[in-house]
Amino acid sequence: MRTAVIIVAAGRGSRMGGEVPKQWQSLAGKPVLEHALAAFAGMQVVLVIHPGDRARAEALGVPLVEGGATRDASVLAGLQALDGTGVEAVLIHDGARPLVSRSLIGRLVAALAHHDGAAPALPVTDALWRGAEGFVSGTVDRAGLWRAQTPQAFRLAPILAAHRAHPGGAADDVEVALAAGLDVKIVEGEESNLKLTYPGDFARAEAILRGRDMEVRLGNGYDVHAFCAGDHVWLCGVRVPHDRGLLGHSDADVGMHALTDAIYGALAEGDIGRHFPPSDPQWKGSASHVFLAHAIGLAAKRGYRLGNCDVTLVCERPKIGPHAAAMQSELARIMGLDAGRVSVKATTSERLGFTGREEGIAALATATLVRG
Ligand code: MG
Repeated sequence: MRTAVIIVAAGRGSRMGGEVPKQWQSLAGKPVLEHALAAFAGMQVVLVIHPGDRARAEALGVPLVEGGATRDASVLAGLQALDGTGVEAVLIHDGARPLVSRSLIGRLVAALAHHDGAAPALPVTDALWRGAEGFVSGTVDRAGLWRAQTPQAFRLAPILAAHRAHPGGAADDVEVALAAGLDVKIVEGEESNLKLTYPGDFARAEAILRGRDMEVRLGNGYDVHAFCAGDHVWLCGVRVPHDRGLLGHSDADVGMHALTDAIYGALAEGDIGRHFPPSDPQWKGSASHVFLAHAIGLAAKRGYRLGNCDVTLVCERPKIGPHAAAMQSELARIMGLDAGRVSVKATTSERLGFTGREEGIAALATATLVRG
């Protein structure tokens, strides 16, 4: 069924306040209407506007129709623009509902295969009262009551006829459809499909958008350094006395290197060697906190913060347990994090392999980065 979308955006939104009608106000950096248009991307759209908004509406690059003095008149103008174009079904959407989802749109279109109309709604769950002058004057049975949303979906010919026959003053298109005897299937709506009505609704909508943009990334790191002559090793930023040292271009802090690589890995930004080439003499003997701070800074620049990290050191000696808490707090300090997001633990390799023969220390690390 060839389906088009009418987005009704001709209202002036007197409850919202502000210089600009709500559908043109900025939500998360772009006009409310752009969010709605993005949800219908790839579908044929007609945008019904107030004549005074033509200049800003043209920037959206979709076909425009000028609306009338009432919502009914605006919808009728949109329906008439589609009449005779081969469109068989239409979704009529309120331009002040920017968060409609693709899945809701899909469910509505599917329901139209069997009904004249289909519209989203949620059951009323709060108790309902009547009130007057600040006092409760009675209660209302909520059984069978629904909160209506848009888009409301109809076959084009019957809803166009219904609008032409309607005397006006309908709250929505379902009311017009019922007056004409059409059947309208209730499709489960979405709590997030809110209608921007009051100024506080913008903050709620932005919080929902942030949640949708949330991204979690995972990285791992692995490093090995060989023992050499010395009297201490640096592990996770802590100087640990030992009868050997660790060989390396920098301070050979194998635990911090693994963690740094885990963060670069989560960002798909290579490893320490890419950012601090061993061939560059300026990093010789460098304290490894420079690398870790760089990785966490790169993450922040891309909008990510560290969710948590977990470092495992693999060695027979030195014993890590007595130093693990200091390592945890030092890594947290370097990254500017709560220590509860940082884990440092150790294991031996049961005297097997190079770590078992005490030829060197290995370290593994995992890090999650969170955006949003
Ligand atoms: Mg290393």
